[in-house]
Amino acid sequence: MGSSLKVVGLGPGDSALLTPQAQKAIADADVIVGYTLYVDLVSDALKEGKEIISTGMMGEMARCEKAIEVARSGKNTVVVCSGDPGIYAMSGLIYELAEEYLDTLEIEVVAGIPALSAASALLGAPLMHDFAVISLSDLLTEWDVIEKRLKAAAEADFVIVLYNPKSKRRDWQIEKALDIVREVRSADTPVGLVKSAYRNEQEVIVFSLNSFDISQVNMLSTIIIGNSSTRMIGENIVTPRGYLNKYRK
Ligand code: SAH
Repeated sequence: MGSSLKVVGLGPGDSALLTPQAQKAIADADVIVGYTLYVDLVSDALKEGKEIISTGMMGEMARCEKAIEVARSGKNTVVVCSGDPGIYAMSGLIYELAEEYLDTLEIEVVAGIPALSAASALLGAPLMHDFAVISLSDLLTEWDVIEKRLKAAAEADFVIVLYNPKSKRRDWQIEKALDIVREVRSADTPVGLVKSAYRNEQEVIVFSLNSFDISQVNMLSTIIIGNSSTRMIGENIVTPRGYLNKYRK
């Protein structure tokens, strides 16, 4: 019988946003592998009696290799990720590293609520029309490529979601990204900043494109920049889908 490895999304943080399917995958596991901060998101009750392989020091590659090794030894293993495991997370790397074992190792991806959905809900309804998601992390992607995608998304009038806007070692990318969008989008375009969505430290701030304060941005921030029709309705950022234009005469 083959062993099983599940790559599980924990959602943004609050255990109320952990799906029952993800919860069951963790409950059924013998071993939980994950970055320390992600393992911390799993309740003690759910972790009880399980082997935990969590480390802040181990890089993504080492963590995935370890998870594959443990799963192949016959233990039901879950790799936990924040948000959705297929969005800037571990499921792709798990498949790449486990390619040669696919005959004997059963891999399953268990979806989670991604930060972009959490941020969108907290801001109102900014993602009602086409949007592009761009990570500002240039650790694995050349900055030139990121810049090209930002320009294209801005020019095509996509609502833009920015992930990984800042880290300890990366602090200039966010200003550069906003400048690219400012070239084509109006100064009063609503921009939402959501920090630590559905965690204790949660903060939701709305700016205009020109008043955006980058000093407010931290690692756990998701930023949503409106398109040319995005506007404020009360305190909420709303991107009209077009219903009223079409159906309300
Ligand atoms: N797999 C995750 C993304 C991991 S990349 C997902 O589906 O959401 C890490 C980035 O995700 C962070 O830099 C931040 O941009 C965003 N993020 C993750 N959790 C968040 C939260 N609780 N609140 C706001 N942004 C978050």
